[in-house]
Amino acid sequence: MAVPARRTSKKVKNQRRTHFKMSIPGMVECANCGDMRLSHRVCKSCGHYKGKEVVSK
Ligand SMILES: [Zn+2]
Repeated sequence: MAVPARRTSKKVKNQRRTHFKMSIPGMVECANCGDMRLSHRVCKSCGHYKGKEVVSK
C-alpha cells in the first residue's frame, strides 16, 4: 500500500476544508473601464461587453 512520502503540514491540513479563496472566481477586469466584473456578463459600471457598449449609462 502507498504511504505518504511527507507529513502534511498544519497549514495544508487546515486549508483542506475551507472555501476561502484569495480571488473571487469568474471575476475579470473590464477591458473598457478596468473595473472588476463577472466574466461573460455586461460590465456593471460602464455597460460594455466585448468592446462594444451594450447598455448605455
Ligand atoms: Zn467597464
